[in-house]
Amino acid sequence: LQAPTAAGLIWQTVRNADAKSDAEREAILADPGFGQHFTDHMVDVCWSEKGGWHRPRVSPYGPIQLDPAAAVLHYAQEIFEGLKAYRHADGSIWTFRPEANAARLQRSAKRMALPELPESIFLDSLRQLIAVDGAWVPSADETSLYLRPFMFAKEAFLGVRPAKKVAYYLIASPAAAYFPGGVKPVNIWLSTDYARAGKGGTGAAKTGGNYASSLLPQAEAAERGCQQVLFLDDERNLEELGGMNVVLVTKDGRLITPESDSILEGITRDSILQLARDRGLTVEHRKVSIDEWREGAASGEIVGAFACGTAAVVVPIGRLLAEDFEIVHEGDAAAELALSLRDELTGIQYGRVEDRHGWMTRL
Ligand code: PMP
Repeated sequence: LQAPTAAGLIWQTVRNADAKSDAEREAILADPGFGQHFTDHMVDVCWSEKGGWHRPRVSPYGPIQLDPAAAVLHYAQEIFEGLKAYRHADGSIWTFRPEANAARLQRSAKRMALPELPESIFLDSLRQLIAVDGAWVPSADETSLYLRPFMFAKEAFLGVRPAKKVAYYLIASPAAAYFPGGVKPVNIWLSTDYARAGKGGTGAAKTGGNYASSLLPQAEAAERGCQQVLFLDDERNLEELGGMNVVLVTKDGRLITPESDSILEGITRDSILQLARDRGLTVEHRKVSIDEWREGAASGEIVGAFACGTAAVVVPIGRLLAEDFEIVHEGDAAAELALSLRDELTGIQYGRVEDRHGWMTRL
């Protein structure tokens, strides 16, 4: 047991007696891939209607016991987050804008009728896990420890109503550099048979069902040699990719990005656009249709596009492939801008560039 934290909770830590040896861990960190290996510990915090948030603990990573009637298994009352821990050159461990992830988890919770986890417990959970598993943060260029907070309805009850028992967990997985050979443009498939979200739906929440419904269109994209799928709204305005936000670049250096209440508000996008504004560039956050992109690309007004998200940070879009047309961005200007913004953001995250917005939190 430890002293109460800022959130007023007393954390309990049970050490993993079967933790990986230093040699085993180093072997994994030398070639971690993505999402395949997990650290020795995990965090969980319980919530009940009567007791609120309680029993925060760090315990050995392992299977979760769930009643077969647990509501999440039937009605998908579930939300999650994704952020990274970065090792700086002096060995210290940092994370990027965790308050923004905490706030987004709260917005997702609200939409999915789950309890809102206080920011202080969210931040405590990151610190508690890093305190025992800090050695799992790799140090090679562009590697990180991916942090996956999630929350689900665990009450065993088959009625359709918000669960009265909920669990919050945090697990962590070392991640290799996303582009080991340098950033390569991606090809995108335009999904017109399927939508990701609808008006009033759950598109703005980071909830599992949104990702389950993207798997079939994503498979369609893969069949066409595309790495990601772009979704539109029912008026043919751009929404987002399966797991990234999208930004268009005009010939005079304006950045256009979709405004929509049915997309996930990316923290990477928000940060990249702030860095662009700092450079004096104009950012247009508004509805933008696929026809505007198509016509703009044909006239030379739109010179490129990029996608952004925590995993890949920023990646130029080389081609957008649709059933009956194609947009090809071959010029270098937009890709250069995207890569230079990417360099600046990763510079801040890895401690090479001054953090003038106060985005970094030491863990
Ligand atoms: N949209 C979707 C659907 C996503 O899954 C993600 C990744 N979390 C993003 C956008 C980008 O968000 P962020 O920059 O916060 O990672």
